[in-house]
Amino acid sequence: MRYIPLLMLFVVSCCKPVDLKKEEVLYNDYIKALPDLKIVSKDAPLVLKVHYVEKAGLLALDTEDRDSLYRLTEDLTRTALGYEIKFEETLVFDAPKYLKVVKSRFNESPIRFPALAYLISWFSPERDKAVGDAISSALKGEPQERLKTYLGDDASTANVTKNFLKNLSAIYAEADLDRHPLLSERNKNDEALFSYGHWSTILQGEHEADFILTNTGIIGADTGMPLYVIARGGVTSAFVENNAFRPYQGVGVIGLYPFLAEGEFFNAKRGRLTKEQKFEAIAWVWVHELGHLLMKKVENYTLEDSVHRAAPNLRYYDWVKKIRETKNHHSDKVGVLKKF
Ligand SMILES: [Zn+2]
Repeated sequence: MRYIPLLMLFVVSCCKPVDLKKEEVLYNDYIKALPDLKIVSKDAPLVLKVHYVEKAGLLALDTEDRDSLYRLTEDLTRTALGYEIKFEETLVFDAPKYLKVVKSRFNESPIRFPALAYLISWFSPERDKAVGDAISSALKGEPQERLKTYLGDDASTANVTKNFLKNLSAIYAEADLDRHPLLSERNKNDEALFSYGHWSTILQGEHEADFILTNTGIIGADTGMPLYVIARGGVTSAFVENNAFRPYQGVGVIGLYPFLAEGEFFNAKRGRLTKEQKFEAIAWVWVHELGHLLMKKVENYTLEDSVHRAAPNLRYYDWVKKIRETKNHHSDKVGVLKKF
């Protein structure tokens, strides 16, 4: 869960104005009341259900591709984390239908809070100021050395904000397969599919799947971005959220766009990758997320040869090269979460 400084007091959800302060209290109480996370035992094989959500016009994985991705991730999970897992894809949605299915969750108190409060909309007139405020609070209290690793020599709020906005506009300007920008006024209703807060709510309301795999990306500005998301221009590759209904107490989402994209921004910042390299990067990121979901591991920022440390930037494949030879991912040195 991200810590979110509150931006607005009221928002309008559906038809009635919502008091965000009250909503935040309800949400925090709800999370507090969830049972503390338990580490999942490695003794028995596990089944994880996956829903696949595909948005037309973006590069995607067909059934065979997804099958190889599931098998590769299962293999890497066995060797890196010691779990015997099996993915079962139970439903495939096209994105507009999926949004219809999950839309009621955006009005369901208290899990609607992230969808109501986190997103700094790309189309908001106050966007740049709100992004600056979010970045300023993210940088506060971080050790200089870490700021330098993630953000470069000039880690001032002004410079980081400028670069962040430049990167995020370059991402949204990437052409989709129909030569339209990824996100613009034209398809502004798709913003929910790119929004961390909306995905957080979707995952918390999920009853059937342990992971949602989608060819969109969790890419945007929000009020609680951690350093590595700021450094990547708003890209959250994947994340796991609390869930009261599923056996592992959490549900994750993997956004494929940053891995599959062939646009100018990603080819420059991530590097050109072959199909096999893309698959390997996605699979390792998925293993990282399984470290959260099954072992309840906290985010690690320091162990460079461990899968528990997320890729610090978009050079996913450099990260893969660093961790795939690792025989010991130092799981014992990484702390455990009480709540996601
Ligand atoms: Zn992580």
